Amino acid sequence: INSKLPTVGTTIFSVMSKLAQEHNAINLSQGFPDYPTDPKLIALINDAMLAGHNQYAPMVGSAILKEIVAKKMIAHYGAKYNEETEITITAGGTQAIFTAIASVINPGDEVIIFEPAYDCYAPTVKLFGGLVKPFTLHAPDYTIDWEMVKKLFSANTRMIILNSPQNPTGSILSKTDIEALIKLTKDTDVLILSDEVYEHVIFDDAQHESIARYPELRDRSFIIASFGKLLHTTGWKLGYCLAPIKLTSEFRKVHQFNVFSVNTPMQIGIANYLANDQIYRDISLFFQQKRDLFRTLLSETKFKLLPCKGSYFQCVSFAHLTDESDIEFAKRIITEFGVASIPVSAFYTNKTDDKILRFCFAKEQKTLEAAVEKLKKI
Ligand code: PMP
Ligand code: GLN
Repeated sequence: INSKLPTVGTTIFSVMSKLAQEHNAINLSQGFPDYPTDPKLIALINDAMLAGHNQYAPMVGSAILKEIVAKKMIAHYGAKYNEETEITITAGGTQAIFTAIASVINPGDEVIIFEPAYDCYAPTVKLFGGLVKPFTLHAPDYTIDWEMVKKLFSANTRMIILNSPQNPTGSILSKTDIEALIKLTKDTDVLILSDEVYEHVIFDDAQHESIARYPELRDRSFIIASFGKLLHTTGWKLGYCLAPIKLTSEFRKVHQFNVFSVNTPMQIGIANYLANDQIYRDISLFFQQKRDLFRTLLSETKFKLLPCKGSYFQCVSFAHLTDESDIEFAKRIITEFGVASIPVSAFYTNKTDDKILRFCFAKEQKTLEAAVEKLKKI
């Protein structure tokens, strides 16, 4: 077969979760909660099925859910998105990202990606003939020097991919970052793909700088969100894409032939559940408590903790502990100590190894405590 992605293997999440399972290790690698879903939410989905919502949803998503999303965007970011023409419900953030890239990237288009980066962006860009222009960020702060980013720009620059709060680093974009981005892309037609799946998982009263807040950027941006993160239900694979009408119409041309539409009873059940907007307020505090607990526990290990301003990932440095690569060390921690993490080099196209591991703390207190007991033995 003439592979379209010859250098791509199986994702690091599947690899590490499988290893964790094989060695019966505590799995803090792949990001997913290990606590139960709210029974009220499950009951609402059950109600939707019993009420007969079991056939195809509209291609663009159920009206009631798009309405909830539109209201949230106004309430949280003062941003108006038209429910008919600018909001599309998708099969998770992943399908939204894939479809956005597929709908606008042509062969030879250059896409700037800040690395370490979530692993689905680069392969998707390549699949459609785009050229990835990685901008390498380093531990511990992963801050962006926008003057250096400018040097990556060319006549072929078509898109910049942002992710705040960021997976895997837990860093967030500040207002100053966004202002630099506005300056950099002023008078260009460079598109933005803003992956905001952790928009509600942000700590210490920081404000999420959604691209939706900035009209100069909003009008050429795809914004990606995921109900999996908001509702602690990563297995349900529901999310959405917000974009101005001219981008949404291209997005939907692809979406209709990719999935056509997504799970009907879940869209209805989720919309009814989110009618209570307390859900949005509870989530950051819920994860902040987990982050604080996990950091306190980890302070008794030999790892050095990196900052974590958002997302449900805590990165640690082990450079002072061993000369092993992050992949070797992550594997050894599974086999010898019984805890799975993700080596951060997996998030760089050039495999930069700053000797950092990522742990997911979307876990029950007892899971985090048991994991750290094991990590203390390193
Ligand atoms: N973007 C980032 C940064 C993520 O961490 C994830 C989920 N791990 C996704 C996108 C995909 O979201 P979903 O699970 O809704 O497809
Ligand atoms: N987003 C999750 C993570 O970063 C996993 C997603 C996946 O397994 N594809 O761990």
